[in-house]
Amino acid sequence: MGYEPLNTPHRTIMTPGPVEVDPRVLRAMSTPILGQFDPAFTKLMNEVMAMQRAVFQTNNHWAFPIDGTSRAGNEALLASIIEPGDKVFVPIYGRFGHLLVEICERYGAEVHTIQCPWGEVFDPQVLIEELTKVSPKIVAIVHGETSTGRMQPLAEIGKACREQDVLLVVDAVASIGGVEVKTDEWQIDGIIGGTQKCLSVPSGMAPITFNERIEKLILERKKVEAGIATEADQRYKRSRLAIASNYFDLSMLMDYWSPRRLNHHTEATSMIYALHEGLRLVLGEGLDNRFARHKLHEKALVAGIEAMGLSLFGDARHKLPCVTCIEIPGGVDGESVRNMLLEDFSIEIAPSFGPLHGKIWRIGTMGYSCRKENVLAVLGALEAVLIRHTVAVNRGEALQAALDVYATEGKKTGIL
Ligand SMILES: *Cc1c(COP(=O)(O)O)cnc(C)c1O
Repeated sequence: MGYEPLNTPHRTIMTPGPVEVDPRVLRAMSTPILGQFDPAFTKLMNEVMAMQRAVFQTNNHWAFPIDGTSRAGNEALLASIIEPGDKVFVPIYGRFGHLLVEICERYGAEVHTIQCPWGEVFDPQVLIEELTKVSPKIVAIVHGETSTGRMQPLAEIGKACREQDVLLVVDAVASIGGVEVKTDEWQIDGIIGGTQKCLSVPSGMAPITFNERIEKLILERKKVEAGIATEADQRYKRSRLAIASNYFDLSMLMDYWSPRRLNHHTEATSMIYALHEGLRLVLGEGLDNRFARHKLHEKALVAGIEAMGLSLFGDARHKLPCVTCIEIPGGVDGESVRNMLLEDFSIEIAPSFGPLHGKIWRIGTMGYSCRKENVLAVLGALEAVLIRHTVAVNRGEALQAALDVYATEGKKTGIL
């Protein structure tokens, strides 16, 4: 007995990733395979580097994707600069801060953390005081925390890190391509983006970029490894230990992503096509237009949710525009609502993690999923499903409120 061919259902995906992929990206993925040293392919690799620089708003030379999901980007950057015993400061305001801690610890770092309640972000002054007290080699922090829908301001901490000669590594997986991420202006040394969120490319790659401060560290370490440097044995052994990963060794990846093209792994051909097309579409739309589009649909969604009578979760001043967190009304089974949305409307929204599990739903408005028809569909469906769950919503208000936003703001911004 054979298996049926794939027949995947069409979904409206309104989660914080993976999100719907632009049909043009899907088409790019189905184009023929090229050899990894074929000039037609290396040209694409170089273009991906250039487009990544533009999307990250940086003049860094090094900008290329790590093969693997977003956390592979986090791991590659951290693994290549942490040596056992190094002090790393990780401020945690949601689930992905814990992931940074976990990665740093695996590479032998001595991790110092502070936490704030989920739904809030840190006052930059608090971060700077802690930074001065801890005096770490590296600060690793999340920019857009998908688990809580919050966004941490980074400019002040970037400035303080540079003044104190500390490296700043940022997880911008959820924010890149959806909201402003100013790598150079905010003085970020190394930064990781995600594909399956606001770039609207399938999961499986992590675009990163890093500056000369990180490059210098990586190259020094490489010299120590090769026995060229005159470092003490002790330090040599420590760095050997730290560079335990071959796959995530940025010094080897730099050789691959340079004209030398020293073979490391086999580049993920079809994913490069996808990333190339995804980045091209972002730049074609224009960063400012793209950020304005994400803000517009966020505004329509939020207006609809509030008009329905539901409450938003978290500190509104620091909301991540591409993730909207909604408090699950008392007595309602959040999973039952999500299941009905999927089964009856083919719409997916997300639950949350840890302390927020069962307490909030998260609606993503990211990349290609961030469209008027999707926002209207999720509002209409959510209202209907909540009525089926005997929630006393304000009937008929949500879609009208969202349509009002589109009628006024959409025209004003020229987006619709
Ligand atoms: C989604 C996400 C990740 C992890 O991404 P994977 O692709 O699942 O590895 C890391 N950080 C943030 C902020 C995210 O939103």
